[in-house]
Amino acid sequence: MKRPDKISAGYALALALCWIAATLSGWTPMGTQIDNSASDFMFRLHPPQALKTYSLLLVFDDRTIQLNGGLRRLRETLATGLELIAVGGPRVVAVDITLAEADQETVDGRLEAVFRKLPNLVLPCDLIEGGWQDPLPRFRKPAAAVGHVHADPDPLDSVTRQIPLQKVSGRDRRWALALEAYRLSRGASHILESPAEIEVAGRLIPTGRDPARPLRVRYLAPKDGKSQIPTISIQDLKEKPELAQLASGKVVFVGVTSPSTAKDRLMTPYSYGQAMPGVEIHAQAFETLARGEFLVRASEVWGLLFSASLAAAAGLIFRYLPPWPAYSAAAALLAFVHLFPYWLFRSDILFPYFAPAATAWLSMAVAATYQHFIVRRLLRRTQMEKARYQQAIHFVTHEMRTPLTAIQGSSELMTRFPLTEDKRKQLIEMIHSESKRLARMIQTFLDVERLTEGQLELKKADFPGRELVEACVARARHLAERKRIRIEIERLEDVELHGDRELMEYALYNLLNNAVKYSPPETVVTVNVWQDGATVRIAVRDQGIGMDEKELKNIFKKFYRTKRAEASGEAGTGIGLSLVDQIVTHHGGRVEVTSQPGIGSCFTLVLPAPEPRAVKVE
Ligand code: ADP
Repeated sequence: MKRPDKISAGYALALALCWIAATLSGWTPMGTQIDNSASDFMFRLHPPQALKTYSLLLVFDDRTIQLNGGLRRLRETLATGLELIAVGGPRVVAVDITLAEADQETVDGRLEAVFRKLPNLVLPCDLIEGGWQDPLPRFRKPAAAVGHVHADPDPLDSVTRQIPLQKVSGRDRRWALALEAYRLSRGASHILESPAEIEVAGRLIPTGRDPARPLRVRYLAPKDGKSQIPTISIQDLKEKPELAQLASGKVVFVGVTSPSTAKDRLMTPYSYGQAMPGVEIHAQAFETLARGEFLVRASEVWGLLFSASLAAAAGLIFRYLPPWPAYSAAAALLAFVHLFPYWLFRSDILFPYFAPAATAWLSMAVAATYQHFIVRRLLRRTQMEKARYQQAIHFVTHEMRTPLTAIQGSSELMTRFPLTEDKRKQLIEMIHSESKRLARMIQTFLDVERLTEGQLELKKADFPGRELVEACVARARHLAERKRIRIEIERLEDVELHGDRELMEYALYNLLNNAVKYSPPETVVTVNVWQDGATVRIAVRDQGIGMDEKELKNIFKKFYRTKRAEASGEAGTGIGLSLVDQIVTHHGGRVEVTSQPGIGSCFTLVLPAPEPRAVKVE
């Protein structure tokens, strides 16, 4: 069974954290501000193209106010302007001047009379503390509709990107002035509503589920510093009454634009520090409705999914591609991330900019760094392994020389000199045992490689533990006797083992061999074998040189030898324990080690006990 890959899990977690962090930062004021600035930038990059405008601005500019008695006589001037424009035959007239308080009777009477002459008149209302501030009833009566004149400047940067199409006070709901003007211009009697849209004369206006039903205004870019919506001032109209012809069939928005007078000047994506008068914002909103150019905000879920797939793509790119293709792919992906919102913007979809871009940058950086460190770690590991391997090869070739010299020497003696039968026999035995030692050495090396690559087949059989332990101890005693070391079997339970007996013997013999090798003469090596629940434990304890904690961590690595072992003068390859560990792991067990420098070590093979065999019941 494959062990769960810790590296991959950590990598995926790191990328998921990038995604979460970037998404959260997209919701901070900074993220929102960057999104706004990006949408304004795209707005300027791809301005709406109006081949035709449907409205006209009739305005109180500075000159009109100065030459017509100032603000005190605003209503009289308004009446004059409307009388003149009515001649041109406008389709709708929308007035953005508050008419909530009474003026002189003669003035109001005149204004009322003009209003009566206008068939499609929209008057403004304002939401103030305590409810709606409507026009005086005498003005309200001749009006075809009343619409609110609120804009919706962004709380962060005060830029008006949208207007609320509806506004509610208590149970009294009002549609926007621009929407009412649009309805009347289309000759519709009703505005129909569904949860995410409103419909006017067959045109669907997507508003999303926001209760304010915001409409993104697609402002027409100013041309040569002037609005694209035709604008005439009342004073101009007074001087050239024929200008009224411009209003023919149009929706006329009337309001104050004089910078010194208009209070409701607001910033727009085109402002560059110059604010737009409220009346023009209403006309621009109306133009947006008339052109049917609606900008729809993409749902949050799409934004989240897009960001998540960017993090995943970054992860895959750096995990599976070689370095240079990975960097190129990352650059391409980053370019895509920055262009994608603009591409959608051109299809009238407003997509978040900051969170996906932040996710992409962050996860690319994390993925690249992560992979860089992994590659470096692998490189270091292979370099260390190579160095150790070379050391071992040196050692092995050196080791091989001893038996080879013995074999060469013996065979030479036998061919060159006449020898006694006894001497001959002794030399033949030597050649035999030395060549066997050579073969064993080679076999061990091959076994290590094959076990590591998973090519070595394990034999599977049940066998008694007692036999295994006794055979190994008998073999090790030869070595032990040379150092006057006693091997004592303290406890030997009748345990059953399951697996490859030869390999298991190799493992246990290795432990005994090491115990003897790394112990001073005249010490004791003890062996204990017992069953502990579902496991069988075979422990080999010595009174040898021992190891410290740091050394203990490394002894199962191939070709590792402790300094203490090297200093002891005992020969070794540093392979034995790595092989023991692999054999035991392949059998579903593990090796436990406790050790103290100068006091001794205890190696325990912990193996799963075979399943008890079913007993046949006759
Ligand atoms: P080696 O051929 O060097 O004995 P092993 O893989 O069997 O190789 O052991 C690896 C290293 O672990 C040894 O070189 C030695 O430093 C340490 N070691 C193993 N067994 C013992 C022990 N019983 N006491 C002290 N150190 C040991």
